[in-house]
Amino acid sequence: AVAYVNGRYGPIAEAAVSIEDRGFQFADSLYEVVAVMNGRFLDWDKHLWRLKRGLAALFIEGLPSDAALAAIARRLVSLSRYSDGLLYIQVSRGAAKRDHGFPADIPATLVMTVRRFNFRQRLPQLETGVSAISLPDQRWARCDIKTTGLLPAVLAKQEARAANAFEALFEKDGIVTEGSSTNLYMVAADGRIVTHPLSASILPGIARDTLLGLAQDAQMQVEERPFTLEEARAAPELFLTSTTAPILPIVQLDGAAVGGGAPGPVTRRLGALAWAEIQRQTGW
Ligand code: PMP
Repeated sequence: AVAYVNGRYGPIAEAAVSIEDRGFQFADSLYEVVAVMNGRFLDWDKHLWRLKRGLAALFIEGLPSDAALAAIARRLVSLSRYSDGLLYIQVSRGAAKRDHGFPADIPATLVMTVRRFNFRQRLPQLETGVSAISLPDQRWARCDIKTTGLLPAVLAKQEARAANAFEALFEKDGIVTEGSSTNLYMVAADGRIVTHPLSASILPGIARDTLLGLAQDAQMQVEERPFTLEEARAAPELFLTSTTAPILPIVQLDGAAVGGGAPGPVTRRLGALAWAEIQRQTGW
């Protein structure tokens, strides 16, 4: 696995940032995870758009140009020699003497890594489905910004693992918003695909954007509205999306079977569309 840190390329084990980096001290930083499949990036432009949107929201400046970022990312993939992997990008406000307020005139810290990732494991999971638990959402009020301040998500994912579940679904004021690292959908009784609308309560997932586009192109009915945990429990189908899991059926929620306890027809159809889109973009 290889890393890039502010201009230097090298093995991940030798890459380092200052202990005064504000990403380390305050989680004053943002990240992106991009799928590398068949040596190509999936949805690169969308990830770059989300990164720049987050940087603007946090007033972090001084990132290299779009073309320079793409060149660094491509060089790192070629150095890694992996054809399938995950590109991780992190941008922090930079390193400075510890003080909450922004330091003046320090360069941002830009880190990228490429690690191997096995996307093939998702294909059998698409057939079997995964289980999930629900938990109260303890995150902050700007879940639409992809900051490295992930402690509530870390604790929730660990609780899911301890319960032998793949994901923890967050509930806030009765509404189930998204997973700890995934977006969430239910298929309603009438076959509509329902997902929480874009808002400060969820991350604008790239896989979400792509999937909703595919569903609309296939004339499937999509409704973006909040839904309750009770509705989710009664739904015939539930599924997740993320960069690392383009689509995964949830077949068990809090120990109870979802629908018939097996992936349903709408999720299966979307699964075929999502993997066909990956093939179209990357030749995977
Ligand atoms: N929601 C949250 C909270 C996430 O952390 C992620 C993945 N980082 C997602 C949704 C899915 O986003 P994407 O499709 O861009 O991977």
